[in-house]
Amino acid sequence: MGILEVKGVNKRFGGLQALGNVNLSVAENTVHAIIGPNGAGKSTLLNVLVGKLIPDSGSVMFNGTSVLGRAPHEINQMGISRVFQTPEIFSDLTVMENVMIPCFAKRDGAFRMHAIEGMMHEADIIEQAETILEDVNMLDKRNMTAAAMSRGDKRRLEMAMCLVQEPKLLLLDEPTAGMARADTNNTIDLLKEIKEKRDITMAIIEHDMHVVFSLAERITVLAQGTPLVEETPENIKGHPKVREAYLGE
Ligand code: ADP
Ligand code: MG
Repeated sequence: MGILEVKGVNKRFGGLQALGNVNLSVAENTVHAIIGPNGAGKSTLLNVLVGKLIPDSGSVMFNGTSVLGRAPHEINQMGISRVFQTPEIFSDLTVMENVMIPCFAKRDGAFRMHAIEGMMHEADIIEQAETILEDVNMLDKRNMTAAAMSRGDKRRLEMAMCLVQEPKLLLLDEPTAGMARADTNNTIDLLKEIKEKRDITMAIIEHDMHVVFSLAERITVLAQGTPLVEETPENIKGHPKVREAYLGE
């Protein structure tokens, strides 16, 4: 059994069947890519996984517990975290300050902005933030203002902030969309580094096949809301159903 088990999930938007009988099994500690043409239902599926959408039917089990009907923050506490398409960081703050904020939120259950003043004196928070920055290879950039960083580094910082919660399953919706090649490669390296250092499973939606083939161990192809194939990367290349869905052959 996978850490994530999706069975028979259906979701309609009016007359449109966005997800039709979706089955997906993501094995623990693997990188699983979900690919498919525009409008295939990839983001809808992700929204179901994080509790932003409730499916019409089907089941979603994470670590043996159902996530359906739970609020997004509860699902997040269960160990599922999502990384957004645009990094959600505080541009005016330094790299270190950005990472300290979720550390505070985790320790105290909330973060009050006035805590920024005194936060450089809290040894446990500093230690935790430094450990995480080291994991994403950003310790040398700790005093840089977030706004001044490249897109790849912003993604790196956002990932660090996300890792504070120690997610078991990381969901990424097109993490390299709109990035230049150098930043895309930086992001691929980052995900590989995190994978090596942490006990983590990743489900990644991605258009860029270079990213998919660099990272994924399993690939599910979604077309018109339904999984077509679930295979290893080697078997996906040249698969007739995949060619049909992408190229209309
Ligand atoms: P993908 O991420 O694979 O490009 P989406 O999951 O965003 O696809 O969308 C799947 C289909 O569902 C598309 O036809 C889209 O227009 C439709 N859709 C997505 N969200 C909504 C919504 N909130 N209301 C109505 N239709 C939606
Ligand atoms: Mg999408």
